[in-house]
Amino acid sequence: MSEWPSVATTVVITGTGTPVPSPDRAGPGVLVMVDDLALQFDVGRSTVQRLAGAGLWPTEVDAVFLTHHHSDHVVGLADLVMTRWIMDRTDDVPALPILAPEGPTAHFASSVLAGWEADIDIRRLHSGRGTAPAVDVVSFPTPTEPTEIWSTDGVRVLATGVRHEPVTGAVGYRIETPDGVVAISGDTRVCDEVASLARDADVLIHEAMRFEPIEALPPHRRFILDYHADTRLLGQLAEDANVGTLVLTHLLPVPETEADEQKFANDVRAGGFTGRLIMANDLDTISLGGRRRRPGP
Ligand SMILES: [Zn+2]
Ligand SMILES: [Zn+2]
Repeated sequence: MSEWPSVATTVVITGTGTPVPSPDRAGPGVLVMVDDLALQFDVGRSTVQRLAGAGLWPTEVDAVFLTHHHSDHVVGLADLVMTRWIMDRTDDVPALPILAPEGPTAHFASSVLAGWEADIDIRRLHSGRGTAPAVDVVSFPTPTEPTEIWSTDGVRVLATGVRHEPVTGAVGYRIETPDGVVAISGDTRVCDEVASLARDADVLIHEAMRFEPIEALPPHRRFILDYHADTRLLGQLAEDANVGTLVLTHLLPVPETEADEQKFANDVRAGGFTGRLIMANDLDTISLGGRRRRPGP
């Protein structure tokens, strides 16, 4: 046995939902862990609950990355920021770094504590604490090609604009670690921008919508066809981008049976994808495999 510990990048799907309420699906979110580093991508409904399910204390989240300002992707942010402070046993947890595209998403992140002042005041007064919850919002212009927006030792995060119009400033992310590459689409149509983010990725987590049942809806409910990902085209994108594992999440319409779910998989296969396919459930965990690292001093 080597004395070097085995470490690996782990991806936990913290939420597979949409705006549609579901007892089994938290709002959108993906946790990427590399050793002790914990990066959370989007913070949908009940994210703090799912992080607890993954064994992660709120204070252990090192940074948050937001894809866009649609409520289903950010509604859990105040919960995370407040709970992180309330549960801080050391009273020295730093401001939470939040990476967000410039515009409404960064604005939302910067104002996430608005309305909580009275609660913060009374908790501080009652407990005699010297700290207050805080965020450190780092905004970036929406890139038109994969561009590094954050890095630390051995790990870097790239972003690029995706196609979620009329929402502008929506981005997807590519996380490069010593173990491989994870790509996250955010909400988007199938597009070349995600193809470039996902090039040769070990794991691509992509939103998915079956167009056929949506096209059958009354006209006033078909608008979501404008800005979500057609499963048939998605299979081709993932194959062409040489993706190892494709994880489907944020499924629309929400599948009610296994047969419904199978139709998403059938579409992706018909589109040409030959890799590993996962229909995500909350807390699904994917490992990018181990490597051996020399222990620190
Ligand atoms: Zn969404
Ligand atoms: Zn959206």
